[in-house]
Amino acid sequence: MKLPLTYYGNPILRAKAKQVTAITDEIRAFVNDMLDTMRESSGLGIAAPQVGKSLAIFITAPPIEEEGNEFKQAPPQVFINPKLTEPSNELWIHSEACLSIPKVSGDVARPLEITVTWLDLDGKEYTKTFHGWAARVIMHENDHINGVLYIDRIPPEQRKAIEPQLRLIKKKY
Ligand SMILES: [Zn+2]
Repeated sequence: MKLPLTYYGNPILRAKAKQVTAITDEIRAFVNDMLDTMRESSGLGIAAPQVGKSLAIFITAPPIEEEGNEFKQAPPQVFINPKLTEPSNELWIHSEACLSIPKVSGDVARPLEITVTWLDLDGKEYTKTFHGWAARVIMHENDHINGVLYIDRIPPEQRKAIEPQLRLIKKKY
């Protein structure tokens, strides 16, 4: 079931999300709804605060490095209580957008690689290093569970240019 999205201006997007203490049937059903919401909104990822729950859960479905012009997404991956470590020194600048901030985008410099420790829906723990788009989407979604938005990380002149649109979004939603 698709859930209503939260939008820029909603305080839940600025809150630090709580850790998940038990992976219950309720959590599993919620993650399924997050998945439906991400798919129906054509997102590359989604974090729990974006659908109104301040919990440390996100899903990613990053683009797969393109061959030709076809746009493909990796199968969705669920991250519960993620911990990010060992960001690479090498940065990669690319444009980002967000389901919670419609119709704007901006350039964000992020480490090219990041290591993540997380739980899956069965409570199994993993640690893995991600690269490129997979790493970028993880860092964007992980920001959401820390109350950070990508627009906090864009160059000041870009932020200034989208300020009128941000005010509109705040008013509209
Ligand atoms: Zn976002």
